[in-house]
Amino acid sequence: MDLGKLIQDRIRDVDDYPKPGVVFKDITPLLADHVAFAGVVDAIVNHHGRGTIDKIVGIEARGFILAAPVAYHFGAGFVPVRKKGKLPSRTFQETYDLEYGTETVEMHVDAFEPGDRVLIVDDVLATGGTARATAELVRRGGAEVVGVSVLIELSFLEGRGRLGNLDVHSLVTV
Ligand code: IMP
Repeated sequence: MDLGKLIQDRIRDVDDYPKPGVVFKDITPLLADHVAFAGVVDAIVNHHGRGTIDKIVGIEARGFILAAPVAYHFGAGFVPVRKKGKLPSRTFQETYDLEYGTETVEMHVDAFEPGDRVLIVDDVLATGGTARATAELVRRGGAEVVGVSVLIELSFLEGRGRLGNLDVHSLVTV
């Protein structure tokens, strides 16, 4: 079966979640299908090529699920970016605007070696605010952002446009 079609089939649209008017892309059916899950991990690794990346950054929380096996198959390390207050040691912080209010993400200041080549992995690219803040954390950590890989890109929210000239790789565009 075609991987793109399999991924589409395994993503569930949930209406009015987390609030009325939002259609939430639920990836849990995809994660439960080992062929689809492995296909997604392989596609992300193959897009860049094994040995080209030093660290994978996963964004809390669904990004962690994808980023950890991607890191293993790349032969790269894993670095978590988390919501404010969850990381135990000293952090850099970035705050960005949501539709209502703000969000703050953090990363340990010593997460990288100077010049590390870093790939950011998340489940969904929506407005691009989370990925942009994460890329800024990586740069502040002294590393180079090689690209952003997401499972689903919600193109109508134009997140790609907020990421400058970063290589944005999405497996499915909605
Ligand atoms: P952005 O900052 O607007 O690009 O939102 C991306 C972040 O919100 C990612 O970390 C996603 O996990 C989460 N997100 C936004 N929309 C969805 C969705 O429909 N399904 C799952 N996660 C979503």
